[in-house]
Amino acid sequence: LGRRINAAVNDLTRSATLDEKAFDGMVKEICNALVEADVNVKLVMNLRTSIKRAVNFKELAPGVNKKRIIQKAVFDHLVSLVNPHNSPYTPKKNKANTIMFVGLQGSGKTTTCTKLARYYQARGFKSCLVCADTFRAGAFDQLKQNATKAKIPYYGSLTQTDPVVVAREGVEKFRKERFEIIIVDTSGRHQQEESLFAEMVEIQQAVKPDQTIMVLDASIGQAAEAQSLAFKSTAAFGAIVITKTDGAAAGGGAISAVAATKTPIVFIGTGEHLLDLERFQPESFVSKLLGMGDMQGLVEHVQSLKLDQKDTMKHISEGVFTVRDLRDQLSNIMKMGPLSKMAGMIPGLSGMMGNMDDEDGAMKLKRMMYICDSMTVKELDSDGKMFVEQPTRMTRIARGSGTSVREVEELLAQQRMMAGMAKKMKGGMANMQKAQNAM
Ligand code: GDP
Ligand code: MG
Repeated sequence: LGRRINAAVNDLTRSATLDEKAFDGMVKEICNALVEADVNVKLVMNLRTSIKRAVNFKELAPGVNKKRIIQKAVFDHLVSLVNPHNSPYTPKKNKANTIMFVGLQGSGKTTTCTKLARYYQARGFKSCLVCADTFRAGAFDQLKQNATKAKIPYYGSLTQTDPVVVAREGVEKFRKERFEIIIVDTSGRHQQEESLFAEMVEIQQAVKPDQTIMVLDASIGQAAEAQSLAFKSTAAFGAIVITKTDGAAAGGGAISAVAATKTPIVFIGTGEHLLDLERFQPESFVSKLLGMGDMQGLVEHVQSLKLDQKDTMKHISEGVFTVRDLRDQLSNIMKMGPLSKMAGMIPGLSGMMGNMDDEDGAMKLKRMMYICDSMTVKELDSDGKMFVEQPTRMTRIARGSGTSVREVEELLAQQRMMAGMAKKMKGGMANMQKAQNAM
């Protein structure tokens, strides 16, 4: 998709006669590419009008970079489409936050429930799972297996066939036990059947969730609008999770779901593993959708990510490199997207990186971020010495982040190495200055 859009824009820049007809043709080509990526047809029509308004071809001063202006107009418009301008429910500590999942069968509810419970567990919330799917044989077994792997307490029944009863009992039990995140997994059907909707509403009334999350498979395509509207009108969800964004689907359906229901996407599923859950970032999502397959795209992409560089540069000039500096650098790398895609944007690099495994690299980065997220402010801003003096800090962080002490040690070794380099650079800079002054 990105390639097609870039090709369309390139054609325009190259064509000798930059007339309005060529511009119209290019907008049409971009719109076709977006429809093919499953962005809703009506939304694309709006986009077309909006680009034409934003880029008033006749009034563009000669010499301005038309290509950049057009790309930016498309990017901004898509970003505004996935931003519903209302914020989702955020769980609070020392309170039972009940979260209920809804969605069609196979969309990824059970998998995402466990990922989310683990996500909050790692952030200090006492989390648990309730299996209210009594429809599918083996549903409870699947949840049990996932939960056991993630060391999350769970509730379910092999004999009770009424999902409403199981949901109510499970939530009541965990509320009494002072759990803070109680996630209720429900069943789905292959289609939006009456019985599914009736069941969802009954469970909702029984457990009164603080938040209902709809799970949507990224490959849903043009059906996203109708499906999300059907769920919204009965089960009134307040947030969306898009799963399988690691797959082949372009993901345009997600945009339609947000636009139709005015509901924010909170997380995206990026794989089958427990750790493959990321907070949704509109800019990064749209960048990936558009491909951004050239250097200029890369530059704009990086600029749009608002990377944290300033403090680190200042620190390095002072000869300092804290754990937080390391965390900011890791987060910058992660925001840029898969390594292979980054390499694809940098001429000559894609061949060199052919052997690198994105999945392993990304997983390692993620685990390092979890470690940082489990640290206190004091620890993050430290030079790392406090971990040597009090090694139990590492045990606590490993447990909180779902990683191992070894991994925490590795991260701190990395930070020590960077701190050593920063120190040397400072010395180097000072010496250079001395030499210059002497001349
Ligand atoms: P449910 O019927 O809605 O509960 O769906 P499941 O949680 O059982 O998931 C259905 C299938 O999708 C399983 O094989 C999952 O491993 C897979 N799955 C879920 N989320 C993701 C994801 O983000 N990426 C990939 N690649 N697979 C996923
Ligand atoms: Mg399930």
